[in-house]
This record gives sequence, C-alpha cells and structure tokens, in this order.
Amino acid sequence: MPVSDRRTFAIISHPDAGKTTLTEKLLLFGGAIHLAGEVKARGAARRARSDWMKIEQQRGISVTSSVMTFERGGITFNLLDTPGHEDFSEDTYRTLTAVDSAVMVIDVAKGIESQTRKLFEVCRLRNVPIITFVNKVDREGRHVFETLDEIADLLALDVCPMTWPVGMGGTFEGIFDLATNRLLLPEGDSREFHGKVVQTSGLDDPQLDAILSAENLARLREDVELARAGYPAFDAEAYRHGDLTPVYFGSALKEFGVDSLIDAIATHAPPPHALPAEPAPVSPDAGQVTGFVFKVQANMDPNHRDRIAFMRLVSGTFKRGMKLTPTGHGKAIAIHSPILFFARERELADEAFPGDIIGIPNHGVLRVGDTLSEKADVRFTGLPNFAPEILRRVVLKDPTKTKQLRKALDDMAEEGVTQVFYPEIGSNWVIGVVGQLQLDVLISRLEAEYKVAAGLEVAPFETARWISAEDPKDLADFVALNRGAMAKDRDDNPVFMAKSNWEVGYVADRYSRVKFAATRER
Ligand code: GDP
Repeated sequence: MPVSDRRTFAIISHPDAGKTTLTEKLLLFGGAIHLAGEVKARGAARRARSDWMKIEQQRGISVTSSVMTFERGGITFNLLDTPGHEDFSEDTYRTLTAVDSAVMVIDVAKGIESQTRKLFEVCRLRNVPIITFVNKVDREGRHVFETLDEIADLLALDVCPMTWPVGMGGTFEGIFDLATNRLLLPEGDSREFHGKVVQTSGLDDPQLDAILSAENLARLREDVELARAGYPAFDAEAYRHGDLTPVYFGSALKEFGVDSLIDAIATHAPPPHALPAEPAPVSPDAGQVTGFVFKVQANMDPNHRDRIAFMRLVSGTFKRGMKLTPTGHGKAIAIHSPILFFARERELADEAFPGDIIGIPNHGVLRVGDTLSEKADVRFTGLPNFAPEILRRVVLKDPTKTKQLRKALDDMAEEGVTQVFYPEIGSNWVIGVVGQLQLDVLISRLEAEYKVAAGLEVAPFETARWISAEDPKDLADFVALNRGAMAKDRDDNPVFMAKSNWEVGYVADRYSRVKFAATRER
C-alpha cells in the first residue's frame, strides 16, 4: 500500500551544521532518483533562472526549497529541502507544513543554535515528530551528556540516545548502536565508514576489548550505563506525538550514522496521515484527491510568467490529466503536465500518492495556502502567515508605475516571498519579511520581472500583528483609536503595526478584549 510506504520529511538545522552534506549522503545511500532542481531543465528554462537565482549564486545559497525523492528498502522518501541560509522566509516555515516529520541536525561542537530553535518551534506548533542527528563526531565536540541535556532543556523534549559515539575527534573509534549492540568502525586513512560492522552481545562483550582503546571502552561502558538509567527508553508513541526525540550520533562527512538515520526514518517516522481541514480532517484514504499548495515558485521562465505551485497530496491517487478545483475561487484546472518529483530518470510519472509533492505549472492562479480537490468541498487549515520581523516602506522611483508595483507586491505576497500591508493612512505601502534576504530578492525581482524601480525605507514600525475581537465593537474602537498604526493585509484583514515587540505587549495589556496574533491561518 503506497501510503504506508511513504515518508515525507524535511531537515531542520542552523547553517553549517551539515545539512547539505547529510542530504547528499542520504541521496547517495538511497540511490537518488531525482534532484528537483533538474526538473524539466531544458536549455532555455535553465538559462532563464533570472536575477533571483543570481542572488543565490552570488551568495552561494539556495533561496528556494525543492523536493528530492529516493527509495530504499521499499520505502519512498520525499525530502523537502528548506533554504539553508541564516535569513529565511515564510517559504521555510511553510515547507514544514507539508511534512510528516523532520530530522534536526546539530553540530556536536555547537549544540542548538538560533535557527534550529526557530524551526523547531514551527515543528512544535504542528506536533511534527523529530529525529535528532548530532553531526561531526569525527571532530572534537561537546560531551554526549551535555548535548543530550541541552536538547532536553532548551527544547523541552524527552531525549533518547539511540547510538553512542566511541570517542570524538582524534580519539574517535566508531559508533555503538544501543538497540542492536552493533559497533560501526572507521576504516583506512580517511577514517570513514565503509560498512565495517561488528555484532557484539552487548557492552560486556570481550570482543570490544580487542577493538577499542581501554580508555574509550571504559568510558563507553560507564556513560551508557548512566544514560540507560537517566534517559527514558525509546517510546514510538511519544516520538510521534512530538514529545520525545530519538538521538543519533554520526558524521555526515565520514558517512557514519547515515544508514541508521535512514532506517530510523523508515521504521519510526510516521507515514502520511489525516490533516486538519474544514469541515473535517482528511485522511489519506478519503475518497477523492485532495492537496494543498505550500509553495509557489516563479521565474522558471520569466517570459511566460509561469509559476510552479507545489502541492502536497493529502488523499487519493492522483493521475495525470486529472481536474482539480481550488476551493473558494476559480474553476477546475486540468493538470496535464504535473511535475512529479519521484519520476524515475526524469520520465514523467503518471500517478502520485498521498505524501508526494506535485509541481503544477500555472499562470498565477494558484496561491500559497490553496486547497485543491476534485469536489471542491474541503479546505485545509493551519497554513500560517508569520508576524514579520522586518517592516519597510516601499518607495517608488517612478510614480507612474503605481499599478505595476501593486501587482508585483500582490504577486510576491501570493508566493510567500514577502507580506504586504496597505496602511489606512498615507500612500506608502509597507512590506514585511521574516529575514533580510527577502528584501534583496524583492528589489531585484521588482526590477527584473516587473520593470519597477523602487527603494526601501525604514518604516516607523518594527513588527505587526493580526487583530481580532469577539465583539466587533471592541475591534472598531481599537481601530479608531489607533488609526495611524492600522493597515490591511492583502486579504483585507486588519493588521496593527507596532514600533516594537514591547509595544505589542503594552497595547495587548491595555486592550485585553482584542486578540493580537503573531500568526494568521489561512
Ligand atoms: P549546511 O550549511 O548545514 O548545509 O552545512 P554543510 O553541509 O555545507 O557543511 C558545512 C561544513 O561542515 C562543510 O565544510 C562540511 O564539509 C562540514 N561538515 C559537514 N558534515 C561534517 C562532518 O560530519 N564532519 C566534519 N568534520 N565536517 C563536516
């Protein structure tokens, strides 16, 4: 049954922790079928990657997320890439709405870093279960206990070590698998893992004395005994609820622990399951094809203004040519040329199953957050907008281009590149982003795609909140008293723009009947 054989997941990490290296090794071990960046990379499309991509090249980073699929042991893995840069956009957040689980990669020397933490919080919002991979044990790092306790304390999660490094850095002698009692050993000058495994009967097995240094072995025995007493045993249920994270140690570079990680995802990570929707949650075996758009990518070909909407399939068996209707707006769309990321050797596949990602070429009809289905009678909930952390005024250099600017800002808001706010007073539109890089992307795309020269000015606001109230009168009173700070988002929802986070707290205290939301669900 295809659904139970699918694992749709993402890797969350701070830059430099080793996500790219780990991704490569996962694909290598899994005999990658396909890299999404190469999808339909016909000559022209390739060259047309445009200025947006130039930013990526200049900075050596990937702004867009993509999908990579590989198979192993009868399991199909869909790995959704999240942009690996310090600045991140709503894209990153939203990608996490389309996965069933995540792998958190931590640098053994650095522990939990800021970006990891932010992404973790998004996972927690949705109870996304997390497997932890502590990377770079071939280098000196913090002690295992320090790492485990930091994860537990900072993220308020139970931790369960599944493997244990034997020494670290210069004294690194392998990885011990606590469940199977297997010892994974390095080989050759490079000290890489090439599959050399010793099956032991446990930590008391005399074989170990012959293989490991006395010091490492004594410490391993002592540490593991302490760990077994101090940490909870693995509990699949607690993991799937997002309350416990199994922790694997390894080195992506030296290929240690990658195998165990893939096995862990195959064995423990949840397959696609029911997702929250109105009027009722939709399970993978619901009678019709349903899915939602979590990302829209423009610029595959700037001449045609083509966009690819990335849809996570939630239920049903999708077949090429099928007609799906976006709930709430628009007519049915016949999907004749879907991009199916698991297509072997770039042949277009004809079917997709729950958990798979489908790229749907369209001309700006589909928006992030849209539900698509055969009967147009459901709507997935919980695709959040996030409170912007940077607000800027957009200043048009040529006043005759107002219309183009509005179109551009609306388009980019639809793609989730930026948010746009239209203040009640004054004519300067305000854009909001969650990372600096999005501002560069915005300006360069305004010029390249829309031929609009614009600049950004510091706005007198720093953040924004979506406001609501049970009694419409309370809301109206608040709006009347704070008109100078009021704006509408692109869907006409009222937004309060604040000078600081402190002001948000202050105002929220004073107007207790008004709700200030840092996220808005579509
Ligand atoms: P990303 O920014 O998280 O994608 O990190 P990269 O995969 O690009 O890795 C950042 C740096 O760490 C690179 O120089 C990698 O070669 C190095 N690196 C990644 N994994 C390991 C590892 O297991 N051991 C060591 N020693 N270096 C690693």
